[in-house]
Amino acid sequence: MTQLTTPDAALDVLGRVFGYDSFRGDQAEIIRTVVDGGDALVLMPTGGGKSLCYQVPALVREGTGVVISPLIALMQDQVDALAAVGVRAEFLNSTQDADERRRVESAFLAGEIDLLYLAPERLALESTAALFDRGTISLFAIDEAHCVSQWGHDFRPDYLRLSMLHERWPEVPRIALTATATGQTHAEIARRLQLEEARHFVASFDRPNIQYRIAAKDQPGKQLLELLRSEHPGDAGIVYCLSRASVEKTADMLVANGIPALPYHAGLPAHVRAANQSRFLREDGLVMVATIAFGMGIDKPDVRFVAHLDLPKSVEGYYQETGRAGRDGLPSTAWLAYGLQDVVQQRRMIDTSEGDLAHRRRLSAHLDAMLALCETVECRRVQLLAYFGQDSSPCGNCDTCITPPASWDGTVPSQKLLSTVVRLKRERDQAFGAGQLVDILRGKQTPRTQQHEHETLATWGIGADLSEQQWRGVVRQLLAQGLLATRGEYGILAITEASGDVLSGARAVSMRTEPEVRLRGSRRSA
Ligand code: ADP
Ligand code: ZN
Repeated sequence: MTQLTTPDAALDVLGRVFGYDSFRGDQAEIIRTVVDGGDALVLMPTGGGKSLCYQVPALVREGTGVVISPLIALMQDQVDALAAVGVRAEFLNSTQDADERRRVESAFLAGEIDLLYLAPERLALESTAALFDRGTISLFAIDEAHCVSQWGHDFRPDYLRLSMLHERWPEVPRIALTATATGQTHAEIARRLQLEEARHFVASFDRPNIQYRIAAKDQPGKQLLELLRSEHPGDAGIVYCLSRASVEKTADMLVANGIPALPYHAGLPAHVRAANQSRFLREDGLVMVATIAFGMGIDKPDVRFVAHLDLPKSVEGYYQETGRAGRDGLPSTAWLAYGLQDVVQQRRMIDTSEGDLAHRRRLSAHLDAMLALCETVECRRVQLLAYFGQDSSPCGNCDTCITPPASWDGTVPSQKLLSTVVRLKRERDQAFGAGQLVDILRGKQTPRTQQHEHETLATWGIGADLSEQQWRGVVRQLLAQGLLATRGEYGILAITEASGDVLSGARAVSMRTEPEVRLRGSRRSA
């Protein structure tokens, strides 16, 4: 294929079509690689400018750039945005009727399309392959490439088929892009998409304008309201909740308190979801309360905060969700409220999840890494970047940098708690969840402690020096440190192999002093 490209063809397209005058970061090098017919694997954080990496080469090279994307709901928006700058873009997915698809197919064959967005499942159709054989393709762009990874948190089986692109059209350059990339996901993408030979571009994952904060969950609704009122009045933001019910409840609560909020979860009718999403994108100052079904591919530059009312299942998920804040580079907040109940609930979900042991282990490793981030006494950003294999130094702009958490020696309370668990098991063959254990330690009479005659236990009341809140913190941190485990549906507590060393006094337990539940200093006054 002969190219009519000059070295400046890409820069020319950038200015003429997109109205920008220079490339950012690795963009120029990535674009040159693809324009020259090479393959590229691009790991770049949200907001880093991935789209231009395939849009510019598609315009410089002859033929149509085919973009594989799982974001069917956003294809119309993407195509409209390109049409607005004069790029001939179309999409093919299951939402179209046959006539519409035929129109797009003829335009493709006539060479009248610059960029064609395609849902991955369409590659399963022989008719799609036959269509591609008859047209001219300038490149394949594989967006959200982490969807091919079973290790990751967003696996799409259809993505496994994408290795066929290379097998069937070996001469067409491919560029795979993602904003999620631990070393493990990175390697898996390269292997599954046969991109080992491609040039790999790994941008820094630091998002310096995002302030990361993780608070102890006390009254999440109140805490959220305080955050929005004191630091983000009138700002657009996203609030993530784990369940549909809590999405609805939280959205109602915000509206009742005069904050314009919309719900978004998979249980809402498609037209409601679409309407809420488009209002969020187009109007100012709306708060979207959503499950993680919301957000992938959402390009709203001025999201000022992302709040999590429940613990994300993985650091990758947390990074992606919080990454939706501050794409415009202005100061933004990533705030997470996390409590003992989150740990218990997520362990239970893992224990009762379908899937084999390896799958449960994977989920468990994801959760452990997330807990380590929550309980760290070091800079959140350093921890976060280290998770993605990137070194950095303390940022000065996260909660632990701003207010370094004190740590305290929690060995004795840990021994009290663990020995209570052991005694209950050994002397009475009983096991309980955190609530009952805390009552025993604090010597609090309840119908349940009376029923089980817990006041006759040797450890009854030996922990009256700590408040209930403090004890819950101890339990949570023991869980996070792997010194305590939960079993089954009711969050029953059990000791682990490592607990023995604590009980014998061979191992000390350092604990993070619970930050005050009151929210920390506002970013505006900081
Ligand atoms: P990503 O897909 O990596 O999340 P986008 O491709 O949506 O990021 O780009 C984020 C924003 O940055 C967009 O508004 C885009 O127009 C802008 N942008 C990207 N590259 C450049 C550039 N070279 N100059 C100016 N703005 C850019
Ligand atoms: Zn920091």
